[in-house]
Amino acid sequence: MEDNFRHKGLRKKLAEQLKERGISDARVLKVIEKIPRHLFLDNAFVEFAYLDKAFPIGAGQTISQPYTVAFQTELLDIKKGDKVLEVGTGSGYQTAVLLEMGAKVFTIERQKLLFDRSKVLLPELGYSPRFFYGDGYKGLPAFAPFDKIIVTAGAPFVPQDLIDQLKPHGFLVVPVGDKDVHIMKRLTKGQVSDYKLVNYGEFKFVPLLEERE
Ligand code: SAM
Repeated sequence: MEDNFRHKGLRKKLAEQLKERGISDARVLKVIEKIPRHLFLDNAFVEFAYLDKAFPIGAGQTISQPYTVAFQTELLDIKKGDKVLEVGTGSGYQTAVLLEMGAKVFTIERQKLLFDRSKVLLPELGYSPRFFYGDGYKGLPAFAPFDKIIVTAGAPFVPQDLIDQLKPHGFLVVPVGDKDVHIMKRLTKGQVSDYKLVNYGEFKFVPLLEERE
């Protein structure tokens, strides 16, 4: 699990590119520059780890493009100590970003293969979220409420269970759409069950699927 000067140089360049593309939160850029993304990818893709691209991680899933990770993280506006629910652990890269931002992370994955892998990899890299194997549509009612919730797969609609599990004034960042295009949305919860939704442009995600595999 080598992380050398070349990797560090490539990460610095990646962070600069993301800044040029419009990511303005310096804390997010610093974390992108710090985390060795190549360690979250299969060996076959290591050479490409610092391109701004999504890559296969097995089980038909992908590690999100760095720009997308940075964009969703920026929208969450993580404060130190925030309790965050992540739906779609995948490679664990976004989980590591949230932890580096100072969040306490509860992460759910429905693919057993990816759940098993990230449960080993993240602690090896020094990251300790709470891992759950299950269906993220339902959230984690036993651990609610959360300050922030992030969904890292494309949902056909905003899951009501997730809205219910947000604290007042909390954010839910979720891409919503069909298989071709998803609109990034940030829902801000009101004092009770009211909320406001704002759209943040088009993205493309693997679909959020029901039940577990
Ligand atoms: N954050 C991940 C990363 O950086 O690697 C993104 C992974 S991928 C774009 C989305 C993930 O959501 C996949 O691992 C997929 O298996 C998972 N997923 C899809 N539907 C889900 C569900 N209902 N509950 C939990 N995870 C789900």
